[in-house]
Amino acid sequence: MIDSKEGIKISIRDNLKVIEENINEALIKSGREGDTVEIIAVTKTVDVDRIKEAIDLGLNNIGENRVQELIKKYDILGKGPDYHMIGHLQSNKVKYIIDKVKLIHSLDRISLAKELNKRAKSLNIHANALIQVNVAEEETKFGLKVEEVIPFIENIVAKFENIRIKGLMTIAPFAENPEDVRWVFRSLRQLRDKIANEKYPNVDMDILSMGMTNDYKIAIEEGANMIRIGTGLFGKRNY
Ligand SMILES: *Cc1c(COP(=O)(O)O)cnc(C)c1O
Repeated sequence: MIDSKEGIKISIRDNLKVIEENINEALIKSGREGDTVEIIAVTKTVDVDRIKEAIDLGLNNIGENRVQELIKKYDILGKGPDYHMIGHLQSNKVKYIIDKVKLIHSLDRISLAKELNKRAKSLNIHANALIQVNVAEEETKFGLKVEEVIPFIENIVAKFENIRIKGLMTIAPFAENPEDVRWVFRSLRQLRDKIANEKYPNVDMDILSMGMTNDYKIAIEEGANMIRIGTGLFGKRNY
């Protein structure tokens, strides 16, 4: 990864090239040649000019983890790119983003599903969502436990007809060596396969959103087809 040193601008283009090469390598290594992996450009703290640069390079999927920042960027960038809500979503903020986002990656509780359904219904649209799974059961992270996911889906399918479940999302624990979290990605893929077999109405398991800058190669080897990359594209964040 090319990161910023005094005054040297980070080249999103060069970073993207490296990522694309790594994606291809991981696909080949795992016998998935020809599959596609969608890159979500995680733009939290990244200013709009840099995001425009990314969009010009073909990165048309923008990921934000805060509602306020997502709206701010949406107001400037408009409907051009597709927006993804990748962070924890409070129910009382659903109304601000429901008609702006293509996909919500962080559906993790019934109260949120209820609000998503209500808002989607009132606009006569569907809310597309991934279920966030806290595979490693970290206390600091949101998401359902693996064993909670199927009952949760059955509950949603029965009650909320304006929600479309599109797959699963996880954030692996940070690991110096990403091999150490391979099991997390493998568990999520196995869960995905199990749910897909059930053929629930309004549920498809097309998307496996897993892998970030530190661990996306391993995630792809384990089946990821959507990765969320911030630092690897834009350099270290300044909070
Ligand atoms: C910030 C963030 C990412 C991107 O992390 P990087 O390590 O910078 O690639 C991915 N997913 C979520 C949910 C995030 O909040």
